[in-house]
Amino acid sequence: MIEPSAAETFDTVIIGGGPGGSTAGAYLAKAGRKVLILEREKFPRFHIGESMLPFSNDVFKETGVWPKLVDGGFMEKKGAEFCTANGTRFQRFWFARGISPEYGQTFQVERARFDQVLLDHAASLGATVREEARASGLVLGDSEHAVTYEWQGMTHTVRCRWLLDATGRDTFVGKSLGLSRVPTQEDRRIATYAHFRGVFRNEGDAAGHITIVRLPGGWFWFIPLDAEKTSVGYVQRVDDLRESGRRPEESFDFVTQNYKELHDRLREAERLGGIHTTADYSYRFETFAPHPRVFFVGDAAGFTDPIFSSGVMMAMKSARVAARLMGEADAAGAAGLSPAQRRLYTRDVNRMMTVYVKMITAFYDNPSFELFMHPAPVLNIPSAIVAIVGGATELPFRLWWRMKAFYFFCWLQRRFAIAPRIDFHAEETPRPLARKPMQDAAPATAPGV
Ligand SMILES: Cc1cc2nc3c(=O)[nH]c(=O)nc-3n(C[C@H](O)[C@H](O)[C@H](O)COP(=O)(O)OP(=O)(O)OC[C@H]3O[C@@H](n4cnc5c(N)ncnc54)[C@H](O)[C@@H]3O)c2cc1C
Repeated sequence: MIEPSAAETFDTVIIGGGPGGSTAGAYLAKAGRKVLILEREKFPRFHIGESMLPFSNDVFKETGVWPKLVDGGFMEKKGAEFCTANGTRFQRFWFARGISPEYGQTFQVERARFDQVLLDHAASLGATVREEARASGLVLGDSEHAVTYEWQGMTHTVRCRWLLDATGRDTFVGKSLGLSRVPTQEDRRIATYAHFRGVFRNEGDAAGHITIVRLPGGWFWFIPLDAEKTSVGYVQRVDDLRESGRRPEESFDFVTQNYKELHDRLREAERLGGIHTTADYSYRFETFAPHPRVFFVGDAAGFTDPIFSSGVMMAMKSARVAARLMGEADAAGAAGLSPAQRRLYTRDVNRMMTVYVKMITAFYDNPSFELFMHPAPVLNIPSAIVAIVGGATELPFRLWWRMKAFYFFCWLQRRFAIAPRIDFHAEETPRPLARKPMQDAAPATAPGV
């Protein structure tokens, strides 16, 4: 490890060694840049965000980390399934049946190990990685920036031409610059989650599916992480939690005992470790390139509700765009990004995020959810939905118009019941286990794509 001097200089400093930071580090080190990644924690460390999307695979392959993930024994994920908590509806999606069947599979990951693989990979490509190194100060300059960080009991300063903020929801640079964040959702939500053993599992190819269980005002995720361990989380409105008068973990227990689908899935489960909570997490900055040589990537740019598991993919894709734009600016001999390039970066990342913001709005809108849960094989729209659920954010025309058609049908559904209505409140009272979870219904209801 290099001993830093007071005036150490790197071409690029990346603050944060999560998927956004390590992916940016991999692209930039591959391009021959001298890169420093500062990571506050000692890896491996717990992190939430465990379900990947197959459209991330391109990034894994481009950076060269793909074989390490394949060899890493991570759980294969081939699709997703959605059901109602009262057990009345079930819908299973297979990525291979989407409009882009080549994106048929990805992984469920325990982030402690996954993030370590990505960070080690960036280091193997030549990035300098410093763990337990917390960025604490920042001065942006015309020709270079200075970042102050705490490491090994001392304060250090590093100078750089380019700076990437990949600090996740800490948004270190955005906060240091005093930039304001705008919410991406009206309702504030809180997530309560833990790892469990003994949770119900699908058999066969669906064993790695993520299961989303929709309640009247919230939802649960079930993410199988390995042969034993399952990540289970509950997302609800902060206002609902407050009104209930319960603490987050009490609310988690109450709901799992009172909704049949949850009760069935967790009846033999045993919690491993503590319960975590994360609140108030949907926002975005107005610009993701606040300076000609500064980028925000991943959650440091913005964060949307995790219902469609888009966070890690967004972090990696924004890192990819940032690395490309840096390359283009340097190849052109420019001092940094032009105003147009800065707008372009913000627009490109925003556009990807907006695909999800719209889907998330539809998920929480009951009539749209009714349609989502009843994808009639009209105009091949279900296959477009599968592609979005799989992480398609660049919308070619064949996908774009089908999404528009889907939202049009959602609009119709709000006025006329073109798909069967869902009664979210049916069977809300505790019931003894009467049947297996609804995976048995899958063959009959899988989307005809
Ligand atoms: C409840 C919940 C469920 C989620 N589920 C999913 C999911 O299923 N799938 C999915 O893809 N995404 C999910 N996400 C989103 C996912 O967690 C994030 O989008 C993803 O981790 C973003 O990656 P990142 O690299 O931008 O930030 P992070 O992964 O948060 O990494 C940021 C890193 O920066 C470091 N850091 C912070 N401040 C400093 C500092 N001052 N100095 C140095 N280092 C610093 C942190 O230690 C951290 O390691 C979920 C999020 C939540 C809240």
